Amino acid sequence: MERLIDSLGRTISYVRISVTDRCNFRCLYCMPEEGIPFIPHSEILSYEDTLFLCGVLQKMGIKKIRFTGGEPLVRRGFVDFLKIFREELPLMHVALTTNGSLLNPFIDKLSALGLNSLNISLDTVDPARFKEITRCGDLQLVQSGIINFSKSSPTPIKINSVLVRGFNDDEVFQLLEFARINHLLLRFIEFMPLDGGIWDKSCFISSDEILAKIQQHGNWEPEKKDHNMLDGPARYYINRDTGQRLGIIAAVSHHFCDSCNRLRITAIGQLRPCLFSDTMIDLKENIKHKNSNNLKEQIHYGIKIKPKCWKNLQNSERHMSQIGG
Ligand code: SAM
Ligand code: SF4
Repeated sequence: MERLIDSLGRTISYVRISVTDRCNFRCLYCMPEEGIPFIPHSEILSYEDTLFLCGVLQKMGIKKIRFTGGEPLVRRGFVDFLKIFREELPLMHVALTTNGSLLNPFIDKLSALGLNSLNISLDTVDPARFKEITRCGDLQLVQSGIINFSKSSPTPIKINSVLVRGFNDDEVFQLLEFARINHLLLRFIEFMPLDGGIWDKSCFISSDEILAKIQQHGNWEPEKKDHNMLDGPARYYINRDTGQRLGIIAAVSHHFCDSCNRLRITAIGQLRPCLFSDTMIDLKENIKHKNSNNLKEQIHYGIKIKPKCWKNLQNSERHMSQIGG
């Protein structure tokens, strides 16, 4: 198997694939209330195409695929596709990111898949605020989905909370408690400047400030453990009194570009070498025609031009749901 190394010596082993740009939520920091013009279904990569793409990626040395969106579980047939994916590419580490709202109907099928990791977004444990942030979501549905899944599956779950000043920064303790009581690993994520409509410096909370906030709620110390980028870019802390673990992802203030190991592929088969990159490489034709050699060449090119570091896209009209968060 090849090993993928970019021009700065970073090993690329992880690809995040968006399976849809559609979502049943309209989170304040991710999508405008009226939504965004959705891509016609005919342009979205079919499951067969996605499977072919992932097979090529595996042969090139990719070890982990995370499926994301939009909301992956709104796409019809997604869980059945995951089953086929597991059967066809059993060695691939498979992860899923979801808003959790559609977990309940799929608990049995998803548990049976033995996913390597499940990330669920949850920014608040207050029902009214949840509705405000997601603009339509039902907190009880998400919380019950999380708890039911965690009881029925050995898949490690991470709860991801984006902390935004004025939205949910007063809820650090409540989120920690929800995670502790339900034996879940919580990670706080810095708000990234992707959507010009919402992000501004005044609502940004740095990882240092997040750390200061959690120190007000217990005795937290950095975990002494070798950092493995396949496990993600979070820095972990452990509560000396309760043993609870917590992650902080400093995507902006202490970005991890030096050790970035990932690529992103959108729902229409565009390769983005970096979340913040304006460059995209259209893989679709080569995927459709199952042209592995050309596809590999394009992916190698994407890795070659992967930027050294991110740049602020605050004024872009790009939303996380379109790129694949
Ligand atoms: N719908 C799924 C979900 O919400 O988990 C998957 C897609 S969503 C775009 C993936 C993640 O991106 C979520 O955890 C969301 O909170 C995060 N996200 C979206 N916009 C963001 C931003 N501007 N900064 C930081 N995280 C963001
Ligand atoms: Fe949908 Fe996830 Fe974006 Fe919220 S963060 S609007 S759930 S894609």
